[in-house]
Amino acid sequence: MNMTFLENLGIDKLHVNGLYCSVMNAAVKEAGEGSEFSVNSPINGMEVARFRNASPAQLEAVITGAEEAFRELGSLPAPLRGELVRRIGNIAREHKQDLARIVTLESGKIMPEALGEVQEWIDVCDFAVGLSRQLHGKTIVSERPGHRMMEQWHPLGPVAVITAFNFPMAVWAWNSMIGLVCGNTMVLKPSEKAPLCALACQAVLEKALDSMPEIPRGISSVIIGDRSIGQLIAEDKRFPLVSATGSTAMGRSVGATVGARLGRSLLELGGNNAMIVSETADLDLALRAIVFSAAGTAGQRCTTLRRLIAHESIRDDLVERLKKSYASLPIGDPNVPGSLVGPLVDGRSFDAMQNALKSAVAEGGEVLFGGERVTAGVPDGGFYVRPAIVSIRHDAQVVQEETFAPILYILTYSTLDEAIAIQNEVPQGLSSAIFTESMREAELFLSADGSDCGIANVNIGTSGAEIGGAFGGEKETGGGRESGSDSWKAYMRRTTNTINYGGQLPLAQGIVFE
Ligand code: NAD
Repeated sequence: MNMTFLENLGIDKLHVNGLYCSVMNAAVKEAGEGSEFSVNSPINGMEVARFRNASPAQLEAVITGAEEAFRELGSLPAPLRGELVRRIGNIAREHKQDLARIVTLESGKIMPEALGEVQEWIDVCDFAVGLSRQLHGKTIVSERPGHRMMEQWHPLGPVAVITAFNFPMAVWAWNSMIGLVCGNTMVLKPSEKAPLCALACQAVLEKALDSMPEIPRGISSVIIGDRSIGQLIAEDKRFPLVSATGSTAMGRSVGATVGARLGRSLLELGGNNAMIVSETADLDLALRAIVFSAAGTAGQRCTTLRRLIAHESIRDDLVERLKKSYASLPIGDPNVPGSLVGPLVDGRSFDAMQNALKSAVAEGGEVLFGGERVTAGVPDGGFYVRPAIVSIRHDAQVVQEETFAPILYILTYSTLDEAIAIQNEVPQGLSSAIFTESMREAELFLSADGSDCGIANVNIGTSGAEIGGAFGGEKETGGGRESGSDSWKAYMRRTTNTINYGGQLPLAQGIVFE
């Protein structure tokens, strides 16, 4: 394995599965006690690292360490925790390029998008530093004379973060940078497809920790493992909160397991995102937004545009322009400047795309463009595809599902009410958009009678959220919110305090008990 990225970061030791080991591949592998697995780069299918899953005993040691560290971290002043996050952000800033290379290596993301992912990490650090001085509750008037009420927010405890392959650094950062300033210790179980990204994140964090001896070491750990370790995490009541990002199938399992022990889960699951393009839309603007949202990241964002709901009067024109635009998309090695569509993550993902296209045709759909594997001008061994455009009925079964690949279904509508009904009819509820120049249409789309998603945009695409807002979606997307706005509240427990300074003991609701 090429660990030079860690050397560039000035790291010679890695903290993995509760052990410190040298950055050598074999040493990292030996840090696990379970079955062995390899990590292959989507770029060319080559093995980049070998790992062993953590054993249940290793998980146990990590949880014990996280509990011990929590006893110290939780009572440190929040601005001091913010100072640690500020230093983490500065190191990430300094090494943005190296970190982005690892994202590209493991996820196959093109470099500009990988740099954007690291930038999200940096941005959320800045946000969290400010937040560390704003974890405030309310003062509430009391109905009783001589009383005052208030709310306080306290840390929760060890928080587990289970991540997906496609945002291997940003999802950790959204959770951990906010979770840490809230006073929690963080345990990351990364996607088994992207453990190096997790180790790089942890290494940056530990570099910042080196400069702050007043903060305990065990505040963050990485546990490498597959879904069986994820399952053990979900079962463990020492995690008051499990934040899990991934497929809806994963969320069903984690949500049920954490729910059965009455813990909290924060679920960020699959999307099936739609854009309505009205007859009044600025089509030039819409076209650019559609291409980035649907074909960017090779269709592997939770917010990827999957359903285009076009007004019948502009549908044919829009599809023709889209086909032209798709035909000029450079598909290739994500490290090569100019590539806009990188590889799918692996062969299973390619098979899922091909099966979805077959199902679409079997259900009466027509592939208008793309869908095939691209082998010329791309690295051997990677699964590169030409993004597909498919015309189909809005209620076809395959359209109700999230296929994690670049397939854009073209649906048609005649009235806005119909378009909104189509937009809302799928089981997922993450991101949505409308392109319109009509204020009435835009406001209806944003109103309670409009989009039922966690994200609803006007005249921008479905993908590419900013960290300042709360991120997440409804229905089978899981209901969780992460990152900005007041998402931090999910990482804390609220206490309501009533203080009697009056010398009498009146009861609430006027009850007399004497
Ligand atoms: P995945 O569900 O296969 O795996 C995600 C993580 O969950 C991995 O770490 C995996 O080991 C773990 N896991 C899987 N089954 C588990 C179980 N039963 N118990 C505990 N842990 C389990 O997802 P993926 O292929 O890595 O990522 C793609 C999916 O993630 C897509 O559906 C995408 O929409 C979704 N996603 C959602 C968001 C969001 O914020 N809503 C962000 C990124 C990705």
